[in-house]
Amino acid sequence: MARDWRDLFIVDGGRVQDGVAAGEQPDSPDADEPRQGRFRRLRDSLRRTRQALGAEIQATLFEDLNEESWERLEEALIYADVGAQTTAQVVSELEREATSGAISGGEALSARLTDLLAELARTGEDRIDLRAKPTVIFVAGVNGTGKTTTVGKLAFHIRELGLSVLLGAGDTFRAAGVEQLELWAERAGAAFVQGPPGGDPGAVAYDAIATARRENRDVVIIDTAGRLHTQDELMAELEKVRRVIAKQLPEAPHETLLTVDATTGQNGLRQAQMFSDAIGVSGLVLTKLDGTAKGGIALAIASELGIPVKLIGIGEQLEDLRPFEAREFARALLEQG
Ligand code: GDP
Ligand code: MG
Repeated sequence: MARDWRDLFIVDGGRVQDGVAAGEQPDSPDADEPRQGRFRRLRDSLRRTRQALGAEIQATLFEDLNEESWERLEEALIYADVGAQTTAQVVSELEREATSGAISGGEALSARLTDLLAELARTGEDRIDLRAKPTVIFVAGVNGTGKTTTVGKLAFHIRELGLSVLLGAGDTFRAAGVEQLELWAERAGAAFVQGPPGGDPGAVAYDAIATARRENRDVVIIDTAGRLHTQDELMAELEKVRRVIAKQLPEAPHETLLTVDATTGQNGLRQAQMFSDAIGVSGLVLTKLDGTAKGGIALAIASELGIPVKLIGIGEQLEDLRPFEAREFARALLEQG
């Protein structure tokens, strides 16, 4: 079953229905898009990864099985950045089941491979809880990985639930970054809080939460810088912003999302590890899946680091942010035709 936005968010029972009047809501780009259409779009954006995998996997699995077939399957998965550890796990299990006679035939093996990949990709709480008021979502990640774009798209979809959203421009390092976020705020119908250029991002986060409480907003999303003079400085600053947030609202941030650019491949795994050690990460947003043959990195991060993938970016438009659904993702990667 494909997930849609309503399955991604945990909201108070009455709030969605009690939200803003229908006429005031922004138009939903995908609310009426049939499930088949949605799957096709996901398949299209994973085309390059699937082609990389597909050529090998078809040839491997639909012919007679031998040592070399398993090696080729391994190579294909590693090439698609599924990761060495995850690949070894999946291939040895599949090989075990094939040799024991539990499954046979190319189609059955292919279906089982989808299942195994989907199982590995599913980890932890993969929903976003919006019940706290305000809910604070903290977004971090390396420069250019898609933080600001994700904040904008996410704000739009939360507005669709009928909730009010405020964006905090915590990337005070780049003036262009602040303007870019302000534009997204306008598009999404969200309020916007910024500080003086080059100012303290902690102060922006503080101000954003104070404003949200005063104005009775439901969700605050804090954008952050992805590059400072050094990486250590960046991590120290992000930790500081987190502390400021927690000081004002002890249970916040309720969600810490990390954006990882799928085109960076295994480097994404290292980034996820680093941010997760420094600031704690509750969910991953894997961006730019539309531009890479290495979409398997989603599976590697989820299974090797145990960080749930919550969202995927498959383009630059408003509707190109999707809840991650492990099974649908694995199917879109492998399914031929
Ligand atoms: P930030 O530095 O982390 O805030 O990254 P930005 O949000 O500014 O994004 C950097 C670039 O990546 C922009 O040109 C975005 O349009 C682009 N981008 C972000 N997400 C996606 C995606 O899912 N697919 C594609 N193709 N481009 C994306
Ligand atoms: Mg940015």
